[in-house]
Amino acid sequence: MLGRLEGKACLVTGCASGIGAAIAARFASEGGRVVCVDCDGDNLVRQVEKITADGGEALACVADVSERSDVDDAVDRCVKTFGSIDVLVNNAGINIPGVFHEVDDATIDRTLGVNLKGPIYACQAAIPHMLGHGRGSIVNISSVNGVVAEPLLTIYAASKGGMVMLSRGIALDYAKRGIRCNVICPGWVDTPINYPHAEMMGGLETVYATIDSFQPIGRPGTPEEIANVALFLASDEASFMTGSVVLADGGMTAH
Ligand code: NAP
Repeated sequence: MLGRLEGKACLVTGCASGIGAAIAARFASEGGRVVCVDCDGDNLVRQVEKITADGGEALACVADVSERSDVDDAVDRCVKTFGSIDVLVNNAGINIPGVFHEVDDATIDRTLGVNLKGPIYACQAAIPHMLGHGRGSIVNISSVNGVVAEPLLTIYAASKGGMVMLSRGIALDYAKRGIRCNVICPGWVDTPINYPHAEMMGGLETVYATIDSFQPIGRPGTPEEIANVALFLASDEASFMTGSVVLADGGMTAH
């Protein structure tokens, strides 16, 4: 199982928490050299310290993915430190639930800025380097809401649906040039991003007590379960996969 990303330069966004922290740790445990990006500097540094304490290679890069200059600097840092960018994971995201016609401009701009424009900026910054090496794997973390809608999550769903088509478009544009791009659509995973939505659904305990009503496997996913999928897609084991929309959702969309 070891070494599936041996020596590969990886950049993962949203590493201070949840799924991104698990992906960074998993990649490093498989020999990846990981630039860990997040806007939450304190927790980011803690996650990177954990990875290095476990013998992995990682560095912290504080950046707001909705700012093109921050993203450009993060990609530059990866290339200057590790010589290339072989794997890009666009994972950083936000979810601010609300009644659709009441959502304010700031929330719309922030959601699209972080969840959709950020990944566009990162792909635009990384792809020229990937083309230079004739290889690269991009893994985008969308959501089941990229393919199915849910009440109170319409702006989030719009951003995540955009991410699905961004991924498929990039897959087509670079299919013959060594760059693969795939997208993961997780179901409900136990991380802080869901807490505001859970509050609107009667609280986290209530959600988890009734989770089998919408997630047939009957429990939330873990960040590590999504990290395993990301690892497979990032690695050469997924060499025939590009433009794939991979549902990792405990059966949620099987209904
Ligand atoms: P999380 O625990 O809240 O982690 C998200 C991380 O991204 C946080 O550290 C967050 O920092 C960071 N971030 C937010 N905005 C950023 C920005 N502008 N620049 C850099 N970093 C930023 O949530 P998660 O569940 O791991 O979410 C990871 C991805 O999975 C998201 O794209 C989410 O939409 C997707 N997803 C999650 C679920 C789920 O059920 N958990 C399901 C489907 C899809 P702050 O805490 O400071 O905001």
